[in-house]
Formats: sequence, structure tokens, C-alpha cells
Amino acid sequence: MNATTTRHSISSQQACAKLDWIQEQINAVSSEIGNSASSIRFVGASKAQSLATLRAFAEAGLRACGENYLQEAISKLDELERFNIEWHFIGHIQSNKAKQVAERFAWVQTLDSIRLAKRLSDARIGLRPNEPLNCCIQVNVDNEPQKAGVSAESYDELVDTAGQLPGLRLRGLMAIPQPYPELSERIASFKRVRSMFDNTSPPQPQYWDTISMGMSDDFLTAIRCGANLVRLGTVLFGPRPPK
Ligand SMILES: *Cc1c(COP(=O)(O)O)cnc(C)c1O
Repeated sequence: MNATTTRHSISSQQACAKLDWIQEQINAVSSEIGNSASSIRFVGASKAQSLATLRAFAEAGLRACGENYLQEAISKLDELERFNIEWHFIGHIQSNKAKQVAERFAWVQTLDSIRLAKRLSDARIGLRPNEPLNCCIQVNVDNEPQKAGVSAESYDELVDTAGQLPGLRLRGLMAIPQPYPELSERIASFKRVRSMFDNTSPPQPQYWDTISMGMSDDFLTAIRCGANLVRLGTVLFGPRPPK
């Protein structure tokens, strides 16, 4: 570790204060909407954050993290093993990486094709037959051409298939709405995700319980619109260090 990283890394007391501050905001919104705060969770979106930063947060009690890139994630998973962090995969999954993702992660929030679902399930069955991989289907809620996510035409079939694969546990939806500057437009996107969730009848409805949406800029709004899992990067860890 060089001097610069040391100087910039956060202490676990500071991390603790950050976690408390986030939790207080979630608690406030929860009581405002008449929800129990414990039903709303956050994962630290930790891409590009250093191991030192993550360690400070893990020591401070952060229990769930989301990573976007497998190579970057693996060393963090290895180094932080003793903290029993629940790791979520929140990036695009290349087919040749599916096996490793299924082996190392507890959740995949970016399920977007039947092909990927089958690969993940097969790998998981081989490695941890009694512990299905929790999955959320990523929906491209604003139909952005460049964005990942299942198309509207393939959605029902993906729900049906993924919901019955023995290596997967289909938990709900994940979305990254277009970052509209107007809050009202973001609200409309969040509400569309919420209604998609409500209107879906998955094969195993008892596990259908998760709406993952909302990031640093808009997580409180997302919770008001029905999110119960938010993914927080900058607001929690600070700006992502340049590569
Ligand atoms: C980076 C990232 C986040 C967090 O972004 P912030 O705006 O820094 O909170 C959330 N979700 C996904 C999928 C991400 O890639």
C-alpha cells in the first residue's frame, strides 16, 4: 500500500458513522411510508473501491456488498472472507464467467437471459446443491438501447424458466432507470418496476420478495416507490478512486 492510499483510506470509526447515517435515513423513510425499516436493505456498491476501504466498512459492520467485475471482486472476496459478507453480483455477466459467479456469490442481480440462467443454475447445482443462487431479473425499464436487461418480449419466459431451475432462487427485479434530471420521471420509472413486480406470477411466489432499485442519488425516492434493496456506492464509500 502506498502513502496515497493510506492517507485516503477511511477509518472504521468513520465507516461506522457513514453506515449509521445511511441507516438513519432509511429508518426515517421507512416510518414515513409505514414500513418496517428492517425490511429495507442496502448493499454497498463497491466497484473500484480499495480493499482498505472495504475492510474498514466490513469492520464497521457492512454485511452486503455488490461488485460489477469478476476479476476485481475475487481478490476482495478472498481477502475479506472472515467477515462473511453477502456478495451480490451487480454487473454484466459474460457467459464464460457464469461458473465463477455462481461459485462465489450469494446473489446475482443481473439475470437477463435464459442462457445465463441455465449456466448459473448448472454451475450452482454442481458446487452447492443445497444452496440455490438468489437472483433478480434485470429489467431495462426505460427501454434504453445500450442498457442491459431483459426485453419485454422475453420477460415472461425468463421468469418461468429461471423460476423453476433447481440451482436458482428467483427473488425479484433489479433496475437501473435512466438518470433523468427530473425526479418526477425517475419516479415514473420506479413505479413501472414496482408494477412489473406486482403483476408477475413466478413459479415459486414464496421467494418473490425483492425490488432492487435506487442508488446514491435517488435511493430514498426509490424506497418510497417500493424498493426494498438499494445499491449504494458514492454516498456510502465516497467518490470512486480513479483507476
Ligand atoms: C455503481 C453502481 C451502483 C452505485 O452507484 P452510486 O451512484 O455510486 O451509488 C449501483 N448499482 C450498480 C449496478 C452500479 O454499477
